[in-house]
Amino acid sequence: IQATMMNFPLTLNHILERVVQLYPQTEVVSRLPDHTLHRYTYADFYHRSRQLAESLQLAGLKRGDRVATLMWNHYAHLEAYFGIAASGGVTHTLNLRLHPNDISYIVQHAQDRFLIVDDVLLPFVKQIVTQVQFERIFVVPLSGLPIPEGFESYEDLLATATGDFAYPEISEDDAVAMCYTSGTTGRPKGVVYSHRAMVLHSFAITNVDTFAISSRDVVTAVVPMFHANGWGVPYAAVMAGAKQVLPGPHLDPQSLLNLFEAEQVTFAAGVPTIWLGIAQLLEKEPQRFNLQRIRMAVGGSAVPEGLIRTFDRFHLEVIHAWGMTETTPTATVSRLKPHMAFATDKERYQTRAKQGMAVPFVEMRAVNEDGVVPCDGETMGELQVRGPWITGSYYGDETLQNNFTADGWFQTGDVVNIDSEGYMKIVDRTKDLIKSGGEWISSVDIEGALMDHPDVLEASVVGVTHPKWQERPIAAVVFKEGRQVSKEELLQFLSERFPKWWLPDDFVFVAEIPRTSAGKFYKKALREQFKDWQWD
Ligand code: ADP
Repeated sequence: IQATMMNFPLTLNHILERVVQLYPQTEVVSRLPDHTLHRYTYADFYHRSRQLAESLQLAGLKRGDRVATLMWNHYAHLEAYFGIAASGGVTHTLNLRLHPNDISYIVQHAQDRFLIVDDVLLPFVKQIVTQVQFERIFVVPLSGLPIPEGFESYEDLLATATGDFAYPEISEDDAVAMCYTSGTTGRPKGVVYSHRAMVLHSFAITNVDTFAISSRDVVTAVVPMFHANGWGVPYAAVMAGAKQVLPGPHLDPQSLLNLFEAEQVTFAAGVPTIWLGIAQLLEKEPQRFNLQRIRMAVGGSAVPEGLIRTFDRFHLEVIHAWGMTETTPTATVSRLKPHMAFATDKERYQTRAKQGMAVPFVEMRAVNEDGVVPCDGETMGELQVRGPWITGSYYGDETLQNNFTADGWFQTGDVVNIDSEGYMKIVDRTKDLIKSGGEWISSVDIEGALMDHPDVLEASVVGVTHPKWQERPIAAVVFKEGRQVSKEELLQFLSERFPKWWLPDDFVFVAEIPRTSAGKFYKKALREQFKDWQWD
């Protein structure tokens, strides 16, 4: 028997059409560089996204051509997400925190034809265009300053649209977006997303057992839209018809909390370093902000258990998630199963601090030299995943096929265990595991424990070459404002949780820990800094 269902493509154009039919009055609010708020509705967004689609076609954009964006999170970036897609093109989000040389490499590798850029980021573009040539560069006038000579205005581009626009023929397997990994583990690698992957991923993160994004939410992607599709949140929010609040370039705790309060945000997504700063400000001035209950998706690096507890005190719910640029990115989410409501407080927090269960249609397994490891919550293996929004190759680089197994799984480079309930826990990245005397130490576990200390704001632990033990852990620690702890006290604190040989050989107290372009702790820089360590 043949199924009788229609063959209907999963494309973003459907999402764009739906939002204007059902939620035309719902707002998109964007913080501009001068701190003022730009507001418009999904009806405006729809109109301008279609203008962008048509004007790009008039400018000669063909199906599958790449348009790069160099932008903060705001209305025009959202228009690019949907307008470029509607034209049949591919949105290539450039990470504005990368070095200009890396960006130039990426632009050349992806063969980007056009660039859309925020006016406030033009100084940056001037560094890139010495190395690469875009056919045309469209500047979004955010700051009100005139567009400098040699560049075109994004608004003028939109004005070329006649309104006579028809969607080109688009297959659900067509490319719609692309993103390069930030290169902390080597040269940037390109991932190309399809319409189908993006639509299914949107469904996955609106699922009630994941992030439950709905039309009743006010959604903020704090995570930059150039970092793994803003974790897919802007796409899902349009699909759900949720109001969006986009923070522009202002990502400091005070600006964010003001925005959450003023716009009554109910869902936000970002890396732990962002939330650590926010938690500190809330603890300092608990009465200052009048917030809604916010579900906060946190991922990108491990969430310390203490952070989840702190936010619970303010009735803010951390939802820990794991993903990668290669996985669109959401692949696992940690939410408690119903029977866990009866577990002890400690067990519940321990489970919430794990990276979680695979979301529907993502499959995962952990593999070591003996094969697939048992789900006992202890045995470590490299995490492998597969699914409809997991990349099956890297763009334009056959030499990277060794990242995929012969039977079709993607090897993540993360070392994990999986427990009998199906919750995955990241032990470390392969390259960050500390090898001491033939045994492994998880830098992630020690960091998490240190950040649970009431006086510690941030901690990062790296393995440093040691003449006798091969490697030993050294911890870099940032104190909370006005606080201080001695090395002895930290050792005492850690020794309650870890065997003696896990304890860091030394602590370095610093004002801040270097960050990667995605706002994570930059361990490579720390290892470099500590490489000539004088051991006693
Ligand atoms: P990069 O960190 O190299 O810039 P990605 O942003 O794609 O690239 O990050 C993917 C990696 O981030 C994962 O392989 C994993 O090591 C780490 N990661 C993501 N989410 C979590 C999490 N919740 N806990 C721990 N590590 C995480």
